[in-house]
Amino acid sequence: MRTLIAGNWKMNGLKSSLAEIQAIAEGVGSGSDAVEALICPPATLIAAASDAAADSGLQIGAQNCHAAMSGAHTGDISAAMLKDAGASHIILGHSERRTDHGELSTYINAKVLSVFDAGLVPIVCVGESLADREAGLTEKVVLGQLEASLPRECADTSFVVAYEPIWAIGTGRTATPAQIGEVHTSIRGALATRFGDNGNTAPILYGGSMKPANAADILAVEDVNGGLIGGASLKAADFLAIYETAM
Ligand code: PEP
Repeated sequence: MRTLIAGNWKMNGLKSSLAEIQAIAEGVGSGSDAVEALICPPATLIAAASDAAADSGLQIGAQNCHAAMSGAHTGDISAAMLKDAGASHIILGHSERRTDHGELSTYINAKVLSVFDAGLVPIVCVGESLADREAGLTEKVVLGQLEASLPRECADTSFVVAYEPIWAIGTGRTATPAQIGEVHTSIRGALATRFGDNGNTAPILYGGSMKPANAADILAVEDVNGGLIGGASLKAADFLAIYETAM
């Protein structure tokens, strides 16, 4: 399984930020057999970013999509449109969408199917709040989100899971390798039980204040197959330092 180093730019980036994409694409070069690189800029930049990354190993993804492919959904964007713009992956169920837009796992499940229909790869995010963790509910919450967010079609189609403890996102507070390992091992067990071989090979990313200084420790944890990186993916130098660490 190749390690996946994925950047989530969230609602950051203007046309002037394409210089960072260009720099990342140059750093990634023709790519590597060991590590995949992906940047998910805001939807407004996907087409230009995929042009900037053309001829490099850098892939461009999206941060969300609607569950339908087209129709009367003012302001929404479908998986087919994101594919048309150059996206290879779509992040779904990020905790900021679950919180800001009230997205439930059942709705995320429908979006995963639309991403499969478009022929793209979903990156499905799960993670507990600090209150969940302190109440000893981490495994129950994370596995519950996984069960409801992933359709049975995951047995035959490529998908990615990102474990992102909400209390570690954008806070500078990173889960410890032991905390990460415990959750990733549970996720791997649940995926393997439900989806067989595909569940054994689906990459499981860690996300939450990952940066060059902690990437080596996190990527060394068993069942960690890459990272989903917010803040530290905005600067080419930081993203590339994490990418190099994963080699
Ligand atoms: C994220 O947005 O998915 C994330 C993990 O953010 P950060 O790396 O900034 O914590």
